[in-house]
Amino acid sequence: MTGAFDHLQAQLQLLQERGLYRQRRVLESAQGVEVRMEGRRLLNFSSNDYLGLANHPQVVQAAIKGMQRYGVGSGSAHLLCGHSHAHHALEEELADFTGRDRALLFSTGYMANLGVITALLGKGDAVFEDRLNHASLLDGGLYSGARFKRYPHGDSEALTVSLEKTPAENRLIVSDGVFSMDGDLAPLPELARVAAGNQAWLMVDDAHGLGVLGDKGSGSCDHFGLTQRDAPVLMATLGKAFGTFGAFVAGSEELIETLIQKARTYIYTTAMPASLAEAGRMALRLVMADDWRRDRLAALTQRFTEGARQLGLQLPDSRSAIHVVVLGDSQRAVSTSEALLHRGIVVGAIRPPTVPTGTARLRITFSAEHRFEHVDRLLDALEKILL
Ligand SMILES: *Cc1c(COP(=O)(O)O)cnc(C)c1O
Repeated sequence: MTGAFDHLQAQLQLLQERGLYRQRRVLESAQGVEVRMEGRRLLNFSSNDYLGLANHPQVVQAAIKGMQRYGVGSGSAHLLCGHSHAHHALEEELADFTGRDRALLFSTGYMANLGVITALLGKGDAVFEDRLNHASLLDGGLYSGARFKRYPHGDSEALTVSLEKTPAENRLIVSDGVFSMDGDLAPLPELARVAAGNQAWLMVDDAHGLGVLGDKGSGSCDHFGLTQRDAPVLMATLGKAFGTFGAFVAGSEELIETLIQKARTYIYTTAMPASLAEAGRMALRLVMADDWRRDRLAALTQRFTEGARQLGLQLPDSRSAIHVVVLGDSQRAVSTSEALLHRGIVVGAIRPPTVPTGTARLRITFSAEHRFEHVDRLLDALEKILL
């Protein structure tokens, strides 16, 4: 006799055979460039804590003080009674920082993307997304019910052709600012031009650009000199370079009020703890003040890129904190990641469906807290394992 969901076991086994099985490792320390995992001290190149703020004493202190003032749980959604002074102040500070009229906090970036796209679009509208956009953007586009078009990576000409063919009235172009699994920048000035020429809005997800690129870390739009007019919808997360948690959408008064009225992932969920908003405010101060963190990141990535090219590794260009070594085969990516771990180094193996089939890769991320000797250890290990 067969029972319900008997296929799960076979499905899991297939994933294992194909090198696509995902496993978690248990972290026993704070996030950082040196971590304790499963009893071992390891050098870490896999977190998104690009500026080294996730365990910064002032950020930790701000969270503790926030918790002493506001308690642990926010107790409610923002629209009922969960919207604290801390959340409100952080929204105003983020709007200033990004040069937008207003900003709205969401509990996570995934929810922000789902919320904003479904609030802006419905049946009869159209959404245009880069093929390599983050899963949350693709999910938001699909879930919105709008006509969903993917264009080839960074290809603004294909995007233009696609836009010119659409009868839809409301058109939203959506792109990562920095692509999360490649580290390259979107051609934002071109996307903004295409948007302006085709009565469309451009939405930028700057999860990996905020804090890292632009003046004082204000992100990839600023890096290219784009304003709210060019990119009316800006989304970014606080769980990456900010080292805290949560996300926000920034833009015009009308955009933000629309989201408050209509974004279901904003309305129907508990507000993030106010203590985290206080931590976010402190992180923002450090992001703006500590240019040295961005300078250090640039120096580290330059040393890595030069070293890796000397070894003969093919690296795509990256101005961000994300660097990839494409290995192709999933099993090879996993075994390389395991061999690095054996040498005390954590580097993630990124496989389909996160990246296209046949492009499994190592994803190496740097933090301002890394030192040159860390980079050299990584290069040395890569040379011994791969060459
Ligand atoms: C991480 C990430 C998100 C999701 O943000 P969370 O706050 O982790 O949910 C969205 N978009 C991109 C590009 C990301 O890298």
